[in-house]
Amino acid sequence: MIRIVCVVGARPNFVKIAPLVRHIKEEWSDTFEATLVHTGQHYDEKLSQVFFEELHIPQPDVNLGVGSGTATRQIAEIMQRFEEVLLWKKPDRVVVVGDVNSTLAAALATEKMGIPLAHVEAGLRSFDRAMPEETNRVLTDRLSDLLFATEESAVQNLLNEGVEKDRIFWVGNLMIDALISHAQEAERSTILNQMNVAPRQYALVTLHRPSNVDTPEGIGRILRILSGVEKQTRVLFPIHPRTRGRMEEFGLASEIRALQNLTLCEPVGYLDFIRLMRDAKMVLTDSGGIQEETTALGIPCLTLRENTERPVTITEGTNLLTGTDPERVLAAVIDILEGRGKRGKIPTLWDGQAARRIVRVLQGQSTRREPSQEVPLSTTLPRS
Ligand code: UDP
Repeated sequence: MIRIVCVVGARPNFVKIAPLVRHIKEEWSDTFEATLVHTGQHYDEKLSQVFFEELHIPQPDVNLGVGSGTATRQIAEIMQRFEEVLLWKKPDRVVVVGDVNSTLAAALATEKMGIPLAHVEAGLRSFDRAMPEETNRVLTDRLSDLLFATEESAVQNLLNEGVEKDRIFWVGNLMIDALISHAQEAERSTILNQMNVAPRQYALVTLHRPSNVDTPEGIGRILRILSGVEKQTRVLFPIHPRTRGRMEEFGLASEIRALQNLTLCEPVGYLDFIRLMRDAKMVLTDSGGIQEETTALGIPCLTLRENTERPVTITEGTNLLTGTDPERVLAAVIDILEGRGKRGKIPTLWDGQAARRIVRVLQGQSTRREPSQEVPLSTTLPRS
C-alpha cells in the first residue's frame, strides 16, 4: 500500500481534489491508502460543504478547523496541526493542489518532516508578487519533488527556474476533469429559472482578488464597471463573502444593491455555477479557475486583472485580459454583445484524464516502474 495524504482548504481545492480522490477510490483502492485532510480555511457551507456533496468527495478524514485569520496565523496554525496528522499517518507522500494558504502551509510542514511532496497545478506564474497566491505557488513548487502541470507555460516556467525536467509532468487539468464529469448533472440545475434569466441573456460576474476588492478605490472601480455593464445586459453576481464584507466595510453595499439590472446573490453550488457559466453570454471574473472553465466551455471571459498565471486561456482559449479600466472593460463587453467575442479551442490535455495521468505517476514513482506513455513530458522517472 502506498499511503498518501491529500490536503484541501478552499473552494477551488475541493473542485481539483474531487476527480483525483474519486479515481483512486474507484480504480486504485488496492494500491493507495488515501487520507483526506481539510484545513478548515474555508468553512462556510456555501464555500465548502456543498462541494463535498455535489462533487461526491468523501467527508474529510481529518478537519484541522483552522478558520479565518491573517495569512500568517492561518499558515502557522495549519503547519502545527498538520504536523500532528503527519506524525500519526506517516504517509509515503503528501499531495497538495492549487495556490491557497493551505497549499503552502501543508507543503512547509511536509518538507520539515522530510516527506515527499507532489504539487498539482505547479508552475503557474503571474510574475506579480503583489498577489498572495503567487508567493504560495513559487514556494510550494520549491518544496515539491513531483510537479504536475496543467499547461505548457507552467512546464517552461519550472524549467526556467531550474527544476529538473524529470520531476515535471504535464498531465492536464483536474479542474477540467471535474467540469467534464459533472457537465451532465449540471443540466438538471434549475438555477436559470430561479434567477429568472434566459440562456445567453446575461453576464455572470465573480470577483474576490485582493487587488480588486481590498481597497475602496478597487471596489469603486468595480462598481463603475458593473454600473456600465448592467446598462448593456442583465448581470448576475454571486458574491464571495470576502467581497461582500469589503463592500459593507467601505460603505459601498447600498450602491451596488441600487443597480436595477444586476442581481446579487450568495455564492452558488458547483453544479449551479457550471450551468450559469455554460449559458452565460459572457463571464467577467478575477478567478483563476473560472478563466480555465470558461475556456473549456467556449464561453467568452473577461478577466479583470492586469496579468494571468494561466496564459493558455488567452493564447488558445476564450479569455481576454481587460484590467479594470471601466472604459476598456465596457468596450470588451460591447464587442461580445455584438458578436465579436473570442472563440477559442480546448488546450492540450484538458480532456478529463488528468487524474488518471497523475495517479499513474504517483504509482509509478513509488513502485519505480517505467512511466506511462500517457505522461507526455517526462522521459525518465523522478529520482527518489
Ligand atoms: N464556483 C462555484 N460557485 C460560485 C463561484 C465559483 O461553484 O459561486 C466554482 C468555480 O466553478 C470554480 C471554483 O469555484 O470551480 C473557483 O473558485 P475561486 O474563484 O474561489 O478560486 P480561484 O480559482 O480564483 O482560486
